[in-house]
Amino acid sequence: MTTGDIIQVILAGSSLADRQWIVELLRSGSPWRFEFTEADTGEAALQQAQGLAPGSAPILLACALADMDAMRLIRRLIDPQGLTPCPVVVVTPGNGRDLGPVLLRAGAQDYIGEEWLSPYVLARAVDNARVRWAMERGLSEQEDARQQAEEQLRQAQRLTQTIIDGAGALVFAKDLAGRYFLTNRAWRERAGLSEQQADGVTDEAVYGPLVAQDVRRSDEQVLTSGRLVVAEETTFERGQAVYYLSSKFPLLDDTGHPYAVCGVSTDVTSLKQTQAALQARERELQTLADNTPDILARFDRQMRHVFVSAAIERMTGRPPQEFIGRTARELGMPADLCDCWENAIQAAFQEACAQTVAFTYEVAGEPGHFSGRFVPEFGSEGAIDHVLAVLHDDTEQKRAEQDISRLLEEERHYARLLARMAQASRLVHASLSADEIAQVLTHQAREILGARRAITQLTLEGPGARNIQAVSLAADANPTEPPHGTVLTASLTGKSGEPLGQVQLTGGPYGDFTHEDRTVLMQLAAIASTGLENARLYASLREADHRKDEFLATLAHELRNPLAPIRNGLEILRRSGQLTGPAARARDMMERQLAHMVRLVDDLLDVSRISRGKVDLRLIRLTLQSVLESALESSRPAIEASRHRLVMQLPTESVWIDGDLTRLAQVVSNLLNNAAKYTPAGGRIELSAQVDGPYAVICVTDNGTGISTDMLPRVFDLFAQVDHTLARAQGGLGIGLSLVKKLVELHGGDIRAESRGLGQGSRFTVRLPLAAGTTADDGAVPTSPTSRSAPSDAPCRVLVCDDNIDGAESLALMLGLLGHEVRTVHDGPAALATVRNWRPDAVLLDIGLPGMSGYEVARQMRSDPQLRGLLLVAVTGWGTQDDQRRSAAAGFDQHLTKPVEATALESLLASRLARAAPPAAG
Ligand code: ADP
Repeated sequence: MTTGDIIQVILAGSSLADRQWIVELLRSGSPWRFEFTEADTGEAALQQAQGLAPGSAPILLACALADMDAMRLIRRLIDPQGLTPCPVVVVTPGNGRDLGPVLLRAGAQDYIGEEWLSPYVLARAVDNARVRWAMERGLSEQEDARQQAEEQLRQAQRLTQTIIDGAGALVFAKDLAGRYFLTNRAWRERAGLSEQQADGVTDEAVYGPLVAQDVRRSDEQVLTSGRLVVAEETTFERGQAVYYLSSKFPLLDDTGHPYAVCGVSTDVTSLKQTQAALQARERELQTLADNTPDILARFDRQMRHVFVSAAIERMTGRPPQEFIGRTARELGMPADLCDCWENAIQAAFQEACAQTVAFTYEVAGEPGHFSGRFVPEFGSEGAIDHVLAVLHDDTEQKRAEQDISRLLEEERHYARLLARMAQASRLVHASLSADEIAQVLTHQAREILGARRAITQLTLEGPGARNIQAVSLAADANPTEPPHGTVLTASLTGKSGEPLGQVQLTGGPYGDFTHEDRTVLMQLAAIASTGLENARLYASLREADHRKDEFLATLAHELRNPLAPIRNGLEILRRSGQLTGPAARARDMMERQLAHMVRLVDDLLDVSRISRGKVDLRLIRLTLQSVLESALESSRPAIEASRHRLVMQLPTESVWIDGDLTRLAQVVSNLLNNAAKYTPAGGRIELSAQVDGPYAVICVTDNGTGISTDMLPRVFDLFAQVDHTLARAQGGLGIGLSLVKKLVELHGGDIRAESRGLGQGSRFTVRLPLAAGTTADDGAVPTSPTSRSAPSDAPCRVLVCDDNIDGAESLALMLGLLGHEVRTVHDGPAALATVRNWRPDAVLLDIGLPGMSGYEVARQMRSDPQLRGLLLVAVTGWGTQDDQRRSAAAGFDQHLTKPVEATALESLLASRLARAAPPAAG
């Protein structure tokens, strides 16, 4: 302290005198200058001392105080470190020997007994106190700093230990010899060592020599480089590889030399495994992405490619790398593709759902068709990170679809074509004439091939040779327009390859005809050629059939001529009554055989007439009963001859039908005759009739030979016979059933044959439509064809004219026996002459006369007024209705077919002459 300094003094004392005295002493006895602050109470002094600014160090000089003693003042001044805020000097009463040391211990720096007060002592006490206070304070601060430093060090050590222990990583430091001198808890736990055991341990001891060798290598690298080294180290723990990532750095001494290696090792085993798994997965995905034919692309929010699979190169010809980080637009892809992709990417981001698109892109100059799915990819936060696009090349599929639909269309086209060809073929084959076929071919060919004009020209050779031409034009084609465009021609050839003609088309639908058109036309021409051949065959068949019918008709007719005189002769023999005994039996036998023959000839004629459509039914309303009665009348002899039992079941009520009595009786009689014929003698024949719905049903059943199953369907065919030997024995021709069927059908009915087989009998069922609205007897009375008139008593003059001399003579003989006067002539002029000279009542005139026909003779007779009243009867082998019409037209009154039954002739002459009134000629 220098003398120039001013010493601040807090002068505490309740007595002003004490305070002035002290001031006096200090000012007089000391070299220093003082500045005093007075406090008359202990409290005031305390306030001043405690309110001191830091750095100012006044001296508290305490005299006697009224409010507290010096001890208390000091105690209140003492801080927790036991120091007073300023040096304290106490003026004690007396010499202060007792109180003084107590006050010093309590914290005062000095004391002065009042007895020793002098300027010098006081000055010294003040200086002493100041030095001592300063020393005490200095010592105390040093201790504080030391303790603080120690505390900080402890804290730092604790912190470091906490840090290195708390770190998940292994922390260590080892000296240059590789001995660990610092390890953290994690390291020790891994090594399985306590802190004590760890201290000084080596890598060899912990990990074994091989691992230690590796570790040592990186340690040395650290030491030689003096820098941080990061190394991957592998140890093996409990048979498992454990991977560490170690960051090692050197610890340097004051001279900068390394004295230790410090390191932090992190167990990266699971990280490494995850990484390896991720890499494997990444590789897998890459392999997948690169090998799938689909294009995979990932886009970020800016629509840049983040990933693109190798397949993109096939589509765009650009490697995948070119795409990364760029948008389709930046890559210069076509605008419509960019629009399509961008819309899909944006929608996938905004709507968070997959978008499906289709787009086209030209690949290697060919239009390619693609479909794509843009799928949002969600990150771990749930937000959409990317959009993944899977693009599929549909071009092949599209092409396949197009191919399929083209094939389908072709198939439909061919199916239509086939159907039309089949239709054309049907039409051709349904055509029976060459003209019709030419028409059908021309029209169908033009229609099927869509041509404007078609012409068919045929030249037919042989009988009926001629040229045929058929033309067909499209609806809008003008007949006068000249044919234009390409011409398509196909030839028609006969069976042996001879040319028949050709069909020619012009104006194909697309201007030209195709190869297929040519094939179709050739096919149509071939069909038509076959059709022509068939038509020719059909015509010749028809011709042959016609000739057969003609022949049968002529045959039957010619057979009738010889039958007539035989019948007449037999009739004469009968009427003459001259034959007796064997001669009479022989005559009877001849009559029966003649009747049989006449029936055969009649049947033959009927069949041929029906075949030629020359049978007209004389329909009248009649009862079924009358038909059956009439049939029975003619069949009964045959039934009885074989001693068959006839059982009948007939309706009691009249059943009405519209029919030709003779023809229907013929039907039933034929069936009855067959039953009699094909049933061994003594059999059973049943004739039943009933009404079944709109039909009258007639059944003829026998228990005879029956009909085999294979024959059944054919019994109605013409000339069909089950057993030729048997049939011949029975004298059949196989005509009967055919005739029956035709007659039934002419009446609008049907017939059915049934048999359970040979020896099982047969049943023939005829159904005829009932007459419309007939349930009751409407009074129509059928006339029986066999009803006979009483023989005439009046003899007539009869002229018989027939070129068959036997026929004429036998008829004349028979008429003579009947009591008539008869003359015969054998030609027309003779007949005319005789009529005029002899004036007969009746003329029986044959029609087929030599020179002048019967018609001509009749016409001449009718034109002669003198011959009025003459009964003119045609007696001829020709018995059709046509023939009858012709004879009526020529002036005949009656038309009888040969051989004429005597009874019929008799009744005719009787009834006709009785009337006496001549018919009108004409
Ligand atoms: P046919 O003149 O031979 O009798 P049909 O046409 O009347 O000619 O009969 C044809 C064939 O049908 C006969 O030859 C006969 O074999 C067979 N047939 C017809 N009716 C009967 C029947 N009631 N029982 C057995 N066979 C029959």
